[in-house]
Amino acid sequence: MRACRVCGDDGPQHVYHSEPLTSEVLRCRSCGHTYAAKDILEEFLIADYNDAEAMQTWADTVRQESAVRLYRKVTYRLTTLVDTDDVPTVHDVGAGSGGFLKVARELGWRIQGNEISRPFAEMARQDGVDLYLGALGEEQRSSSVDAVTLFCVLAHVQNSGELVREAHRVLAPGGIIFVRTPAWCAIERLGQFLLRISRGRWSSIMDHRMNLAHLQIFTERSITKQLESAGFTLEQLETVCEYACPAEVYLRSFGIPALARRLAGRALDALIDRRLFLRNTIHVYARKVA
Ligand SMILES: [Zn+2]
Repeated sequence: MRACRVCGDDGPQHVYHSEPLTSEVLRCRSCGHTYAAKDILEEFLIADYNDAEAMQTWADTVRQESAVRLYRKVTYRLTTLVDTDDVPTVHDVGAGSGGFLKVARELGWRIQGNEISRPFAEMARQDGVDLYLGALGEEQRSSSVDAVTLFCVLAHVQNSGELVREAHRVLAPGGIIFVRTPAWCAIERLGQFLLRISRGRWSSIMDHRMNLAHLQIFTERSITKQLESAGFTLEQLETVCEYACPAEVYLRSFGIPALARRLAGRALDALIDRRLFLRNTIHVYARKVA
């Protein structure tokens, strides 16, 4: 079986066969990292991101207010962590429609970013945020920025180790990387339990977490390993309760009927707003060793 993509441990546990991924899903016994066993063709992955309608639907679905709250919180934290007398610069990787960069600019940062999705880059441009259309790479100078941010990007890429090393290259010595990524949590444990009792038939929860968008799920241990092996030292790591979309959207993808999901959705959103629901998202800040 394929060795862990983060720590290299070669005795992973088999989780299940994911139809949406057309791949076995494996979980590392050492760092808990969960990943697709198979390499998915790049063209196949990128096709979805250039579907303008799908990207617009996503942009319309996310909870705008909580996103802005998060962006402010991250910008304030980065401001306290970076060490420069100049106006600091942030590069947002996979900047989407530019939501984070707009907030960072309002709060006094110089901004830049890249995005592989043409529809997203176009939405950002219309909002006054110019992004480089493509992956983080040679176009971005080495040691040129004070902070690099990755909001929900690492789970979407196959070779996250390479991306984190690129972020390290682009950062100035002492610079900060911020990563937000889904955490392996009670949702996956429930998903695994349902797979077990149904002998693999009830896969909707696991499929919701592992699919062509989410190729891997980190644990606190695997994200730490990923960052440290690229040359970062951890500043802050926490797993928080944070959901990008209203709860009803998730319940719909699990096949829950309309009335039930409206009622349950409202109750869950109230819990999520008070941070009383499952902690499902990792936030980590780490520093490029000077
Ligand atoms: Zn591992």
